[in-house]
Amino acid sequence: MKGWEANIRKVVPYVPGEQPQGDRLIKLNTNENPYPPAPGVEKALREMDPDRFRKYPDPASAELVEALADYHGVGADQVFVGVGSDDVIAMSFLTFFNSEKPVLFPDVTYSFYKVWAELFQVPYETPALDGAFGICPEDYRKENGGIIFPNPNAPTGLLLPLDQVEAIVRENRDSIVIVDEAYIDFGGVSALPLTARYDNLLVVRTFSKSRSMAGLRIGYAVGDPALIGALQDVKYSYNSYTMNLPSQILGAAAVRDEAYFRSTVERIIETREWAKEELGKLGFSFPDSMANFIFAAHESVPAAELYEALRAEKIYVRYFKQPRLDNYLRISIGTREEMEALFGFLGRYLGERKR
Ligand code: PMP
Repeated sequence: MKGWEANIRKVVPYVPGEQPQGDRLIKLNTNENPYPPAPGVEKALREMDPDRFRKYPDPASAELVEALADYHGVGADQVFVGVGSDDVIAMSFLTFFNSEKPVLFPDVTYSFYKVWAELFQVPYETPALDGAFGICPEDYRKENGGIIFPNPNAPTGLLLPLDQVEAIVRENRDSIVIVDEAYIDFGGVSALPLTARYDNLLVVRTFSKSRSMAGLRIGYAVGDPALIGALQDVKYSYNSYTMNLPSQILGAAAVRDEAYFRSTVERIIETREWAKEELGKLGFSFPDSMANFIFAAHESVPAAELYEALRAEKIYVRYFKQPRLDNYLRISIGTREEMEALFGFLGRYLGERKR
């Protein structure tokens, strides 16, 4: 072994969902939005002057921060933006999770949390979800160096009621509690208004799902000005110009188009509820998702087999080869037509297999 090899940071990276290229495929594997971004985004894109790219972007992303502050009815000093919520959460781990005590997050959850804990060498514990995949709030009533969970949780789609989220925040006033609301717009009740009363609560959101802008990489956090200030200090110690100019401009345009946003979210919720009925008819069971995906297991056919059969048809869903999860497929909600193609294929495949 070479001398320098001992000094290399060893990490087991997060594995993002596959991004297959091409047109003739149905992509239901990374919870993207099947509808285009708001018309105001396209207009702002057309009007963008490339000459502006000569200069560095505003390091404070003020236009976007102010649009978000207006939208949520909070001060600009209560909003932190980053390059996708992954960037915002990574910065939050670095900023807030510095204790010798373990950070707590569920055993079945967004698998990036564990990767950041390892990367930043933060001790952690993972309280187990209950038999129905629910988060047990009482597991978070113990000494800890911080808490993070998604609401709704991923990959289950289950929503923790607001009073239980609040109980976790209230019972941990000496810790930062991060609620990752990547999927909250699809029918959940947000904890964001609680940030006015709890200075230990940070709510993280993304433009990747409900705002159809995964490709632009925009995420943000809302919390007490002291938390936002701490995040800024770490960000400016790491990379001042995190957000590029197009993301700042187009993100702000998206936030201003409330009516379009509501209408696409409604369509996805409608398709999801219909998809639940169809999956039930095909012999699948699933936790009752409040997100833009459904985590479903078939009564007789293994998920790994279905995953491969779908893939051969260029229908991409997500499969996690892990204990407890490996009989489930996580299926993002696409357009009605995409879902019809999925159910059409599954109906034929499962029918053939029975014979
Ligand atoms: N949190 C959760 C729970 C997610 O599922 C995702 C999507 N992979 C993210 C955060 C990160 O999303 P993004 O970086 O695109 O905002």
